[in-house]
Amino acid sequence: MGERELNHRVPEFYCCYLLRSVQKKQSFYIGSTPNPVRRLRQHNGILTNGSAYRTKKTGLRPWEMIFCVYGFTSKIAALQFEHAWQHSYHTHFIDDEERIVKNKTSGRSLHHKLGNVRLLLKNPFFQYMDLLTHVFDEEAFRVWNQNRFKLSSCAEMTVSDFDDVADASSLQVSENPGNSENSDDPSLANLKFVEKLFADILAQHRKNIERQQKFLSHGKLVCGVCHNFFNYMDENDSERRSKPLVAFCPAENCNFVSHLNCLHRVFLDDEQLDRGARTLIPKSGNCPFCEKVVSWPVIVKYSTCIRDCNELGKAAKDL
Ligand SMILES: [Zn+2]
Ligand SMILES: [Zn+2]
Repeated sequence: MGERELNHRVPEFYCCYLLRSVQKKQSFYIGSTPNPVRRLRQHNGILTNGSAYRTKKTGLRPWEMIFCVYGFTSKIAALQFEHAWQHSYHTHFIDDEERIVKNKTSGRSLHHKLGNVRLLLKNPFFQYMDLLTHVFDEEAFRVWNQNRFKLSSCAEMTVSDFDDVADASSLQVSENPGNSENSDDPSLANLKFVEKLFADILAQHRKNIERQQKFLSHGKLVCGVCHNFFNYMDENDSERRSKPLVAFCPAENCNFVSHLNCLHRVFLDDEQLDRGARTLIPKSGNCPFCEKVVSWPVIVKYSTCIRDCNELGKAAKDL
């Protein structure tokens, strides 16, 4: 698989993050990564490989990851968000009338950094991805809620368990038992929060993929919408690309499965009935079996992940 294809496929996890220097609270850094744990360790010099040059400057380490946005549908999309966040004074992802940072040198406070995230999340391009946010830091959570610029935003947010700080900071960093890090270091507690989010999301993602693959391995399946049969596991299928994209209901105890195209049509029809207008891409819809509201981008993400997994598996077998 070429780099171009890798950049466009749906990653298990990809986030844009905000770092703040523990020593100088007004110093921030915006970046993006598929592995925030490894990345944070690189920024703090715990891992020496990797190229976290800009955060090497003396007097700024350690860095804490205080906020992140995740759920990007490709590496490219995450890089676009990162670039827009870093260049919020002129990015086209923010409307001029709404812009809160007018030039390069303004907008250095946490209020501005988080305000810009709210503005980017409102952009239809990013909104379509149904991005999620997480706050690892109490002050950042307060600033977010304060919402100084009175901006509306529509992404779901989760928050680390700040009461857990004492427990977290007393733990040693497991992969580096002989290190000289001070266990009172607040950045260690922060690293634990980042590890927890990353582990939780990956576990959830892998559980879903596993469940869906098991389903597909049964062979002959009936589309829950058009009621036609399809067999995802058919090895005689010579055209790899001809396999239909499959939609699953993400609800754990629901067995709905259909052609992705079929569910797409159902969601658009429902939306049209609801609003009287037909769009090209639905935002969400009700599962035809369990009737739960499910996010369309999430269904598409899993659908393409499953196809990629199967292609990778097949490619490996072909070698
Ligand atoms: Zn169908
Ligand atoms: Zn369902």
